Amino acid sequence: MKQIDGTYRYYLEDYYSIMAIPYDYPVIGFNNNTVNTLRLWDANPKNQFDLASFNEGNYSKAVEEQNLARTLSEVLYPADEHMSGKELRLKQQYFFISATLQLALSRYKEKNSDFSLLSDKVVFQLNDTHPSMTVAELMRILMDEYGIEWDDAWEITKKCCAYTNHTIMSEALEKWPIELFSRLLPRIYMIIEEINRRFCALLIDRFGNNPDKIRHMAIVADGQIRMAYLAIVGSFSVNGVAAIHTEILKNQELKDFYDIYPEKFNNKTNGITQRRWLALCNPKLSNLITDAIGNEWITDLDRLTGLKPLAKDKAFQQKFMDIKRDNKVKLSNYIESTMGVSVDPDSIFDIQVKRLHEYKRQLLNILNIMDLYNQIKLNPNLDLEPRTFIFGAKAAAGYRRAKLIIKLINSVAAVINNDKSINSRIKVLFMENYRVSLAEKLIPAADLSEQISTAGKEASGTGNMKFMLNGALTIGTLDGANVEILEEVGKDNIFIFGATVEELINLNKSGQYAPWDIYNMNSNVRMVLTQLINGSISPEDHNLFREIYDSLLNGYGGSRADEYFILKDFDSYSDAQGRVNTAFKDKAGWAERAIINTASSGKFSSDRTIKEYVNDIWKLKPVHIK
Ligand SMILES: *Cc1c(COP(=O)(O)O)cnc(C)c1O
Repeated sequence: MKQIDGTYRYYLEDYYSIMAIPYDYPVIGFNNNTVNTLRLWDANPKNQFDLASFNEGNYSKAVEEQNLARTLSEVLYPADEHMSGKELRLKQQYFFISATLQLALSRYKEKNSDFSLLSDKVVFQLNDTHPSMTVAELMRILMDEYGIEWDDAWEITKKCCAYTNHTIMSEALEKWPIELFSRLLPRIYMIIEEINRRFCALLIDRFGNNPDKIRHMAIVADGQIRMAYLAIVGSFSVNGVAAIHTEILKNQELKDFYDIYPEKFNNKTNGITQRRWLALCNPKLSNLITDAIGNEWITDLDRLTGLKPLAKDKAFQQKFMDIKRDNKVKLSNYIESTMGVSVDPDSIFDIQVKRLHEYKRQLLNILNIMDLYNQIKLNPNLDLEPRTFIFGAKAAAGYRRAKLIIKLINSVAAVINNDKSINSRIKVLFMENYRVSLAEKLIPAADLSEQISTAGKEASGTGNMKFMLNGALTIGTLDGANVEILEEVGKDNIFIFGATVEELINLNKSGQYAPWDIYNMNSNVRMVLTQLINGSISPEDHNLFREIYDSLLNGYGGSRADEYFILKDFDSYSDAQGRVNTAFKDKAGWAERAIINTASSGKFSSDRTIKEYVNDIWKLKPVHIK
């Protein structure tokens, strides 16, 4: 504290000074004479130092500033759905947040004097908890730099911030250790403490002196700062990204906050852009659609319903499926040339591409493939459409289990693809380096879209929407946006399986889930699990996959046995895959369902999503451009 202009103000000393350099990346509109800019920041050292002019203390500090500036904008943390608590990550967040807020407020100041009207011009949409420090940094700038009192600054902050929650997985929600946070960002920590003190006073007002309530809901508790709670308390809007996800937030994960602030909660189901995920990546299908219904779908995806009357049209079905086959041939050639594996373009292209995570259950998929392989070996005349199982996934560098699952998929692929006795009836591929440019090759060639997360774990998913748009049928659980895809497409045009969120919540509560019972009663499951540890898949090291075996039956490393209910859903999934097999034999029936999928995907345009943010949260009026 120091007296500045007659009042006491907080001031900082002994800090590192970093220069934020803005780079405006153009985001080009589609035929609308508009180019928006996405502002990216680079970090530079502020003091270009002259070695001779520094004493020893200043010299080492200048070197540290240089190193900090170099690392701040250079490292992209790849961890997905997992929080790692790294010091550099916290510094990065503060750097990006502070640069953005300082610029936004100085811009506002150029044309306006009254900060109480800031929310008429500005909303900070906190995209996950990563920018949630915005709440405290905005308070700091308003108070310490513009001299606004706490109560006024808090009213402004709450009116300018809105929070989007992207996950229900508690291990992904950011929680910073107080020790780290207070050491790096003492003033921001001080402000969070005061926000927390006032919030706890409100809780005591409402619930009496209830330590349990405070421990559950406080922003600062048990040695940590809970960034999601800071974002909720400091925002006027809290949204989930699919209907079921928002309901889970309201009724389970954030129920206590919903009870206090029901007016803040709303849903914004995610979407994807049809410009990239159809017009650009699938030009043949785009042309067929435009020939049939005109090109308005490119900016108004609901127009695709115009295809529904054509779903039963034999000539249209033929054209639609010819294009699917062309895309499959093209992908087959790419696979042959990059991986040296030949695949049959007339087989079912069954694709699971997404980040590798246990909750997404790539393991369920590969265990089912192992079972299918066992069935073929037992019965060479098994009634089975040829199938090509394709995986693509990246894993965070330190996520060991994820890498072991990738190893398992590759090991199973080696066994199956090299077994001449099964006559190439099934093939398994793990494609390396999954990324948008690979997704653009895979998705137009998919017959079947694998969306098989444990119910309640996938907030929305967007891969599911891209596949549907390109005429793939979904095999999926009642999770994330799959629920809304079912609503749009109807139950005859999707393969739904598995336990529901309610069933799994009850099973968790009862503590009655016993994977060993499934093992004991289901010989197919028993065979597949045994193959994980008897050298069938890893002849060179029988124990390679024992960790996976243990995780399913006994629990491993402190986790419950089969946390993600893979064995629980095994039979139901296998049954749904049987229904896929039967459905694919009826070529006209499959074509009709594929067309209905494309025709029903209008809701999942990001144009619809953005309009909802614009109308409900940002309250913007459209600007008309000639
Ligand atoms: C769409 C997309 C995702 C998200 O996929 P989900 O199946 O929703 O998890 C991930 N990675 C890439 C490259 C994508 O294009």
